[in-house]
Amino acid sequence: MSNSTFNTQDTIVALATSPGAQGAIAVIRVSGPDAITLVNSVFKGKDLTRQKSHTIHFGTIRDGEEIIDEVLVSLFVAPHSYTKENSVEISTHNSKYIIERILSLLIRQGARSARPGEFTLRAFLNGSMDLSQAEAVADLIASNSAASHQVAMQQMRGGFSNQLKKLREDLVHFASLIELELDFSEEDVEFANRDQLKALIMQIHAVVLKLIQSFEQGNVLKNGVPVVIAGKPNVGKSTLLNALLNEERAIVSDIAGTTRDTIEDEINIKGITFRFIDTAGIRETEDIIEAKGVERTLEKMKQARLIIYLFDPTQDDIDAVQKQIEEIRTLNIPFVTIINKSDLLTEEARQPYAALQPLYISAKEQQGIEELKDELLKQVNLANINTDDVVVTNIRHVEALQRTSEALEKVLYGIDNPVTSDFLAMDIRQALHHLGEITGTVTTDDLLDNIFSKFCIGK
Ligand code: GDP
Repeated sequence: MSNSTFNTQDTIVALATSPGAQGAIAVIRVSGPDAITLVNSVFKGKDLTRQKSHTIHFGTIRDGEEIIDEVLVSLFVAPHSYTKENSVEISTHNSKYIIERILSLLIRQGARSARPGEFTLRAFLNGSMDLSQAEAVADLIASNSAASHQVAMQQMRGGFSNQLKKLREDLVHFASLIELELDFSEEDVEFANRDQLKALIMQIHAVVLKLIQSFEQGNVLKNGVPVVIAGKPNVGKSTLLNALLNEERAIVSDIAGTTRDTIEDEINIKGITFRFIDTAGIRETEDIIEAKGVERTLEKMKQARLIIYLFDPTQDDIDAVQKQIEEIRTLNIPFVTIINKSDLLTEEARQPYAALQPLYISAKEQQGIEELKDELLKQVNLANINTDDVVVTNIRHVEALQRTSEALEKVLYGIDNPVTSDFLAMDIRQALHHLGEITGTVTTDDLLDNIFSKFCIGK
């Protein structure tokens, strides 16, 4: 990342709405010290430099005498804006031509094209939000279910940050007491009560561990539950997938094993996303292409958090079914046992399977699909998902928390063993460092580059 990215003296401009999208209106965002004067120089209407913050003005954007568009201009005077800089949002008619004309006009007046995520980067650099909140902005925009929306919203509003801030403050307090001891090292004094320190570190460690554990759940809320539909060829996996997705996505075929490629798709059940991974079956086979499919299926199954195990009693007897269930059990992943083609089954035919307590469905006739959806929800154990709790959804955060946890364990070891104060202080500082990486108290250019380059332009 070049240094100029961190130059907040430039005035930057970008289209904030989706480029190429249909719709009546587009919004162009301008931010930086000269944002208001710059827009004012091409705006005919009120003198924008004399207007209050948070006001909207109608007028025209002109290139010389030529009117490019009639627009609405929203004014945000520093520091009362997203970026904490002077900012202007120009609502124009959504024409590619108009947008390009206005962007190039503003650039001619001295603005520069914003880099990806640069508005949010500035919001972070100017202290309007911490790093984890800035990351949540991207998550919020990407959210596609009630659950992912809720966790991103909570993170953006600072739920996670506040929890970390409290932990840091407690640690800073003890770190400074211990560092004080270093100044008096000749005199063998202890300012930091070791019992209190130990209690505190254990308490913080417990919170950190809980946050780390929340990641599995957070990941599910954010990215969806990976589900594999498993079963032999022709049991109706593709048909079921179609029934669930309610559209013809997978190739349904009467020929055994034709669904060779794994197909991923998503459905949303009561706010939770389930990502389906259709499979080529779990049978043993000599066929080379098919064997690859089987290998991949096993790989996929290991990635699943939930398996829908489908079988067809018109193909397999109870012994064969039980054998497959044993195989699935070895994976140690929750699974639901589904008997498909219930439309073909008499009461009598169902008898042998009673002990398995399967769910009967007909993928073809779309029977039992709602019950299956309920069962899927039950399996992800919604009762344990409380989105009011802080949940970690970001791999970068969980890694920093793991490093924090390791440092805290060293501190705990240090308290119980004859370790000198300077080492203890160092380990506490280390824990603080890793906590700071999450909120951005500690950052590097590379880290910021890595995070913000994944944003779109205009965010
Ligand atoms: P896959 O190989 O497991 O993906 O199985 P398919 O979805 O391709 O289905 C194999 C055959 O079973 C197709 O002819 C489907 O129409 C049929 N089939 C699937 N589900 C049902 C069902 O619920 N009832 C009946 N009668 N046939 C079904």
